[in-house]
Amino acid sequence: MPSFVNVEKCDGCKALDKTACQYICPNDLMVLDKEKMKAYNREPEMCWECYNCVKICPTQAVDVRGYADFVPMGASVVPLRSTDSIMWTVKFRSGQVKRFKFPIRTTAEGQADPLGGFNTDPSLDGPVLYTEPDSLGCAVWTK
Ligand code: SF4
Ligand code: SF4
Repeated sequence: MPSFVNVEKCDGCKALDKTACQYICPNDLMVLDKEKMKAYNREPEMCWECYNCVKICPTQAVDVRGYADFVPMGASVVPLRSTDSIMWTVKFRSGQVKRFKFPIRTTAEGQADPLGGFNTDPSLDGPVLYTEPDSLGCAVWTK
């Protein structure tokens, strides 16, 4: 089921040039109605249900209707993202609420080493990948 925006919660990302949901959608589906300052999914049938917009929205305004066998009517699954984890709140039809916290990264923000400690040859002449041959741990590639 595609994502949809709860207009009562959406604040248009406070009029920033590009909203968080526009920035994150891999299919470029989210658009902002600049008069109403509300976002919407312009092509629901193209939605991959990847939940990126759901997870990034700072006001928890985006939701995805769950399939009936997974999320029965009256139930909901809502993520709340922090810098290092996501707290999922699962609300059952009975009113019972359960929360699960999962880490989303193993290094602090901005601390990832893109080369993984390997040397790299910045020239793009050979067929090897960026950190090869160092990361392969075998003989040096000769061009
Ligand atoms: S990220 Fe959330 S608050 Fe921002 S425009 Fe999209 S739906 Fe609205
Ligand atoms: S669920 Fe994924 S594909 Fe669908 S609108 Fe959100 S970010 Fe785009």
